[in-house]
Amino acid sequence: MARFIGPKCRLCRREGVQLFLKGDRCDTVKCAVKKREKVPGMHEFRRVKHTQYGMKLREKQKVKRYYGLTERQFQRVFREAARREGNTGETLLVLLERRLDNVAYLLGFAPSRSAVRQMIAHGNLCVNGRRVDVPSAIVSVGDVVTPSKRQSAKDGVKKSFEERARHVPAWLLRDDAALEGKVTGLPTRRDVPLEVNEQLIVEFCSL
Ligand code: SF4
Repeated sequence: MARFIGPKCRLCRREGVQLFLKGDRCDTVKCAVKKREKVPGMHEFRRVKHTQYGMKLREKQKVKRYYGLTERQFQRVFREAARREGNTGETLLVLLERRLDNVAYLLGFAPSRSAVRQMIAHGNLCVNGRRVDVPSAIVSVGDVVTPSKRQSAKDGVKKSFEERARHVPAWLLRDDAALEGKVTGLPTRRDVPLEVNEQLIVEFCSL
């Protein structure tokens, strides 16, 4: 009997990688991608062979979904990456990794990037003591991310920190007692855990 798989897990299944869209569930054995690895040959998980164009498109979609971006937002970051010196694909991923919603998620402020975006939209997140309501804000070295002064925001982050003793990347530092996270360095391509071929994205966007 076919099992029901929610729309977010369907996206992961289609892309063939974990996109971490369902918060804590993604780290459990209930994850649909992990289950798929255990059940080779199941009809519903059969891989589709893509054309060159399709492969490039898939890589772009993977990144968009992983970071929760609209096409417009993605194109804006791509243009910015193309303007900067260096490898455009790597710069794109590094810029996305430095987004405030991603950083707060990695620090464990909320179970998913979408939950962090909601926090930001409700004015519950501050950078260097100032409230920030733009999830796409790019953090820099030395920036300190904290909950806003509202007690409900502090309580929410305290609870989230307690529930999520997740591994924080080397370029970030979390202080549970102070309820804050600090950016101690800048991420590199190796810090982006998503399995993606960024060169194909550059080729797709240059078509
Ligand atoms: Fe679902 Fe796993 Fe994707 Fe999370 S990572 S959304 S649990 S398939």
